[in-house]
Amino acid sequence: MNHVYSIPLRTRFRGITVREGVLIRGEAGWGEWSPFLEYDAAESEPWLRCAEEAAAGDWPAPLRDAIPVNVTVPATSPRRAHEIVLAGGCTTAKVKVAERGQTLGDDLARVEAVRDAIGPEGRIRVDANGGWDVEEALAAIRALDRAAGGLEYVEQPCVEVEDLAVVRRTVEVPIAADESIRRAADPYRVRDLEAADIAVLKVQPLGGVRACLRIAEDIGLPVVVSSALETSVGIAAGVALAAALPELPHACGLATVQLFTDDVALESLVPVNGMLRVGRPAVDEESLQRLAAGHDRVAHWANRRADVDALRRSVRQDRPS
Ligand SMILES: [Mg+2]
Repeated sequence: MNHVYSIPLRTRFRGITVREGVLIRGEAGWGEWSPFLEYDAAESEPWLRCAEEAAAGDWPAPLRDAIPVNVTVPATSPRRAHEIVLAGGCTTAKVKVAERGQTLGDDLARVEAVRDAIGPEGRIRVDANGGWDVEEALAAIRALDRAAGGLEYVEQPCVEVEDLAVVRRTVEVPIAADESIRRAADPYRVRDLEAADIAVLKVQPLGGVRACLRIAEDIGLPVVVSSALETSVGIAAGVALAAALPELPHACGLATVQLFTDDVALESLVPVNGMLRVGRPAVDEESLQRLAAGHDRVAHWANRRADVDALRRSVRQDRPS
């Protein structure tokens, strides 16, 4: 059984104000298939594998029962950043930097405010979303590391993997690859170029929990599990990965259900004392009805699904028998 949801976001994210996706019910419960609207069939196919794995209940056994997560601080004022960290209740903060239209001075003030709020024991990571060139990255990382009183790591300072590698060789602060890892082959490229100290993995684009576990084992880097902006159903898959990783030295980026105005789960997967519980959230039938997408959007998603199914058939036919 498939169900198309449509949920407004609290603030614009990736240029969208409403998140849509398909919840797929299988023997073990619900899985979420929510590739972004601009993704074609080839790009959306691994996302479907993740949903099918969840619906089939084919997840590895958890090694822990709760997952530490970070609070995310957008490119906002120091005062607001301070409030967000206090309200978040997390001991790790991820601070957005290198926002277009802002200066390094804005980033430094924000990071100082975050340190003040989180205390000397808290961890601060910054995420530049590829906003710097190499020269800018080197100067900014050194200054931010001082302003923060030590950074846990810098996420995606530059766009290109080659540039991440240059920055990583030059600064002391560890480098995490996020946007550089979107397809199954990407983590290996990051590893081979020694471009990062930490890999940010998202279960939907990389084909599910077990696929990500294999990647983590192959690349031999610490993993930070992050969301692709899902409902609690999709977040549970990321939590399942974080729970199954042999080591989890960093807080995960899975506290994003709060960015939605509503949720399909009876009890949303939002952090309590900086932790997400491991397990499957129960889906509320009444919420499904309330958040059901309109007929035209249901038809749109049925078409997308048909495209992915057709792609799978053609790949199977091409395979030598
Ligand atoms: Mg990121």
